[in-house]
Amino acid sequence: MKILVPVKRVIDYNVKVRVKQDQTGVELDNVKMAMNPFDEIAVEQALRVKEAGDADEIIIVSIGPIQSQETIRTGLAMGADRGIYIDAPHETEPLSVAKLLASVTEKEKPGLIMCGKQAIDDDNNQTGQMTAAILGWSQATFASSVSLTKDNAKVVREIDGGLETINIKLPAVITVDLRLNEPRYASLPNIMKAKKKPIDTLTTEELNVDVKPRLSVIKVEEPSTREAGIKVNSVEELVEKLQAEAKVI
Ligand code: AMP
Repeated sequence: MKILVPVKRVIDYNVKVRVKQDQTGVELDNVKMAMNPFDEIAVEQALRVKEAGDADEIIIVSIGPIQSQETIRTGLAMGADRGIYIDAPHETEPLSVAKLLASVTEKEKPGLIMCGKQAIDDDNNQTGQMTAAILGWSQATFASSVSLTKDNAKVVREIDGGLETINIKLPAVITVDLRLNEPRYASLPNIMKAKKKPIDTLTTEELNVDVKPRLSVIKVEEPSTREAGIKVNSVEELVEKLQAEAKVI
C-alpha cells in the first residue's frame, strides 16, 4: 500500500507573525518557514505504518511556491520515499488543494492519505475532509491513535470532552492531531540521502484543477493587545477586585 502525505509550507511556529501594513495579509518576506507541525506528525505516523510492514511507499505532496520543495525534502529526510511538488500560488484554498490531492490520488492510487488536522497559518481544518468527500473515501479526523488491519483502520479521535474510537474502511483519509506521536528528527545521513530522492513536478493544468480563489480577504488585523495585569497582596483584595472591578463573582 502507498501512503500519500500532503505537507504544507507555513510560517515556523516559533515566529511572531506580523500583519502587513496594508492589512492584506501577513508578512512572508524574510520570514522563517517550516513544515506545518501537524504534517510532521502525519509523516511520522506514515513512517511508523511502513516500519510495521503495513505500507511499502510513502509519497510526500506539497502544493505551493517553489520553496515548498524544501518542505518535501524535510519529509524525505525523515524517511519518506519520494515527493510530488505541485506548482501553485501560496494562497491556494482548501477546496483547490483537495481537488489537486484527489487528482494525484487518481494517478498514484494510495490506500491511505494521512494529513494534518489543520494548517497553522490559515487554521482552515478543511482539506482532509474535502479530499475524502471528493474521492468518496472514508475519513477519520483528529486522530490521536491509529491502528491498521488489511482493510480497516481503527482510529481514536480527540473530540470535545473525550475520545471517540471508530472503525473505518480503507481507502481513507486520516487527519492527525497533536498527541498522535512525537515526530523524529532527520539524522545527517538521512538528510544527505534525501537529496537524491526523486521529486516530480506537476502543474495545476496537468491535474486539470482551476485554483482561482473563490474567497477574497477583506482585512487582516493584529489581535487586540491585552491590558497589563496587576499583583494583589491578599486573597481578600483579590475577592474584592473580582467583585467590584471585574464583576465576575
Ligand atoms: P487546512 O485545511 O488548510 O487547515 O489543512 C489541513 C491539512 O491539509 C494540512 O495539515 C496539510 O496536511 C494539508 N494541506 C493543506 N494545504 C496544503 C498544501 N498547500 N500543500 C500540501 N498539503 C496541504
